[in-house]
Amino acid sequence: MMRLPPFEYLPCRTIADAVKYLSDHGSAAMLVAGGTDLFPNMKRRQFEPRVLVGLRGIRELVGVRGDRARGLTIGAGTTLTSVATHSDVVRDYPALATAAGLVSSPQLRNMGTIGGNVCVDTRCNYYNQSFAWRKAIGFCMKKDGDICLVAPGSSRCWAVSSSDTAPVLWSLGAEVRVVGPAGERTMPIQALYRDDGIEYLAKRADEIVTELVLPPADGWKSAYLKLRRRGSFDFPVLGVAIAARMDGDRVRDARIVFGAVASTPRESRDAAQLLVGERLTPDVIARVADRAAGPSKPLDNTDFTHPYRKKMTRVFVARALRKIAVLPESGATHEEIS
Ligand SMILES: Cc1cc2nc3c(=O)[nH]c(=O)nc-3n(C[C@H](O)[C@H](O)[C@H](O)COP(=O)(O)OP(=O)(O)OC[C@H]3O[C@@H](n4cnc5c(N)ncnc54)[C@H](O)[C@@H]3O)c2cc1C
Ligand code: SF4
Repeated sequence: MMRLPPFEYLPCRTIADAVKYLSDHGSAAMLVAGGTDLFPNMKRRQFEPRVLVGLRGIRELVGVRGDRARGLTIGAGTTLTSVATHSDVVRDYPALATAAGLVSSPQLRNMGTIGGNVCVDTRCNYYNQSFAWRKAIGFCMKKDGDICLVAPGSSRCWAVSSSDTAPVLWSLGAEVRVVGPAGERTMPIQALYRDDGIEYLAKRADEIVTELVLPPADGWKSAYLKLRRRGSFDFPVLGVAIAARMDGDRVRDARIVFGAVASTPRESRDAAQLLVGERLTPDVIARVADRAAGPSKPLDNTDFTHPYRKKMTRVFVARALRKIAVLPESGATHEEIS
């Protein structure tokens, strides 16, 4: 049985408490929200913080505010279960409700938060292993070693961005609000990510994600499909998030974003551009799906073979577009597809 190492736990009541504790303890400290990713990583000695700054007691981080006209603001401490079942999210941002509802298992969704989900660690077959397993193969540069075992000639880590909600939030045009010692700032969610398996977040280590801000749904439809081995629970090895703004039956604007194909969510702008002004006919869907697969370049470091995951990108884009074609404008579907 793997055990947690000793650590000091600092519970917070306010965001200001958390900012102060992070500044006081610097690189010795990490934030913990639901702990559903962090604690397993600590047991495997992938993370070795001496201090944990606990966000669970911060009431201002919890809840969904706003309305249809203004859009929704989701507190980073809101659980995935609450996001997946919130009536406004289900009605106006169905892809987000679907993605949140497909993360891990019901117990973990009751504990896990959306803030933790957008910051969740990148994954790799050579890294998500016990300390003894990693030691036996000589470690890798993401933790304790100095080479990449997937691409030994590479100077970077290719661990995979594995959040279900990140590609969806990106496709919906969401912004993320962070608070740190220098105050608060808001940025498009894509600016939160870097294409690097180790330094995968572009925010400073002493900044806390406080809110996810969704623009008004206003004619947008959205869908999310997830590929994984077990339908009951598993990280995505491919996530396809599509949002399309409709003008009658024609697409006025669209975004197609992939999860789990790189160290950051990947947008296929070319393919989305092909949709603009078009009806979602079988011909258009086939053309867009062919083009969309381009930026999906999975490596051989997660479940399933990477050529299969690449092929499935095309299939899932086509399926997601067919789903969007039949969704009502503020469509409320929340079903498991994979
Ligand atoms: C068996 C299993 C299956 C899983 N399946 C999936 C899956 O299918 N899809 C998926 O996306 N995830 C999956 N997860 C991972 C995890 O459960 C989710 O990503 C969850 O949303 C993490 O949220 P949390 O609140 O528990 O984060 P924590 O574990 O508390 O933290 C995760 C990371 O985010 C940081 N963090 C947390 N909150 C904040 C904040 N507000 N600001 C800045 N940094 C923050 C922490 O420091 C840590 O680095 C799985 C985990 C397990 C154990
Ligand atoms: S991609 Fe390479 S460096 Fe990164 S976790 Fe995997 S083996 Fe390690």
